[in-house]
Amino acid sequence: MLKNMKDKYDVIIVGGGMVGSTLACALADTNLQIAVIEKNIPDDIQQNDDYDLRVSAISHSSQNVFEYLGVWQGITKRRCCAYEKMQVWDAQGDGEVIFDAADSGVRELGHIIENKVIQLALLERIKSHDNIDLISGRSVSSINYQAENSQITLENNAVLNCHLLVGADGAQSMVREAAAIDLDVAEYDQKGIVCVVTPEMHHQHTAWQRFLSTGPLAFLPLASGQCSIVWSADSAEADRIMMLDDEAFRNELLLAFDRRLGRIESISSRAAFPLIRRHAQEYIKPGLVLVGDAAHTIHPLAGQGVNLGLMDAASLAEVLTTAIEHRRDFASYQTLRKYERWRRGENQLMMYSMSGFKNLFGNKNTFISKVRNLGLNLVQKSDLARSLLMRRAMGFEGDLPAMARDKFDNKNRQHQAGL
Ligand SMILES: Cc1cc2nc3c(=O)[nH]c(=O)nc-3n(C[C@H](O)[C@H](O)[C@H](O)COP(=O)(O)OP(=O)(O)OC[C@H]3O[C@@H](n4cnc5c(N)ncnc54)[C@H](O)[C@@H]3O)c2cc1C
Repeated sequence: MLKNMKDKYDVIIVGGGMVGSTLACALADTNLQIAVIEKNIPDDIQQNDDYDLRVSAISHSSQNVFEYLGVWQGITKRRCCAYEKMQVWDAQGDGEVIFDAADSGVRELGHIIENKVIQLALLERIKSHDNIDLISGRSVSSINYQAENSQITLENNAVLNCHLLVGADGAQSMVREAAAIDLDVAEYDQKGIVCVVTPEMHHQHTAWQRFLSTGPLAFLPLASGQCSIVWSADSAEADRIMMLDDEAFRNELLLAFDRRLGRIESISSRAAFPLIRRHAQEYIKPGLVLVGDAAHTIHPLAGQGVNLGLMDAASLAEVLTTAIEHRRDFASYQTLRKYERWRRGENQLMMYSMSGFKNLFGNKNTFISKVRNLGLNLVQKSDLARSLLMRRAMGFEGDLPAMARDKFDNKNRQHQAGL
């Protein structure tokens, strides 16, 4: 617990995960007094530590945000792995597409990074800002939401007050509950199995994804040459796979992945996460706002969940900073409504696209399967179609906040100018 913890802040962010910590860093240049409350701070990692099971595919626009905030170096000095290609194929036919960064004039399509590496780099940056207090190792035990001044009680009974309360506390958000904001929920009836595997062949800096009728299986490249897998499967099938012993799991994984990288030489422990689409019916109330998984969760098949959350954080920081510059109340409903209008449509579009992909690729109907494979092969033959899909996957499409945009615009200008 901080010795100099105050009892009143302008902004309290509950949840110092990837999204909440990004928001804090993005607000650091305002004169706001900010507290970030995070119950679990991971231990820092050493280069030779085993890879964590939770990783994220981080898009270019998210990387731009981290670079703008001075966090990217804290990530690369720990560890991350660039991927230059993405290879997608259908288990029920011959449809296959290869996306190559070189076709878009960029060095890589994105990076695979352990969630805790991102969080550690952000928390390190937070500590360098005098106007942000990191209150770590304590849970919020209760919240009294009030439009003008909310009260947060920590588990040691300390009470903190704030003008703006931010819920960055993940899918089971206590802030969302305290504000009585309802959720629209759609069960995908799937679970995502994650683990780290050592394939016989190097991953070739490629993110591999095979669409099985039971759900997509991704092999994501790690700097060690290993792969982090996300195997999404219908819940009953996922439960069966989780019950297999290591040898049987390895054999089934090999077949499911089409032996693309040869034998599976070793596997780590496994974990499974239920995959649920959730969307908060409101992102805001006067004096309260939700970001990241507290506002929305989606299917991980295109690795977009945290990228959406990071765009929430950067967009909200932009809206609040503009309000402060114009001497408006940064916590008012009118100010926060700008953020909600900006982000709800962008998030909804991605959520419905992911559900559409999941249904399309999960469909066993022979006709649909033929059309799907034809579609994949047509995309492979069309430079334009591949380029448009790549731009979306890299996070270049949509109404981006300035911090996410600048570097790409510069890079694009340089590219167009042949620099
Ligand atoms: C299998 C799987 C694979 C995924 N792969 C990808 C991917 O490749 N790319 C991608 O973009 N996304 C991916 N996602 C989604 C991504 O993991 C989430 O979108 C992301 O973790 C959300 O970040 P967040 O900061 O909003 O929430 P969280 O990561 O849930 O962080 C919330 C934080 O709040 C803290 N907290 C909660 N309650 C309290 C409390 N009461 N008091 C104090 N602290 C509290 C928690 O300790 C936590 O640190 C995947 C998800 C799954 C399930």
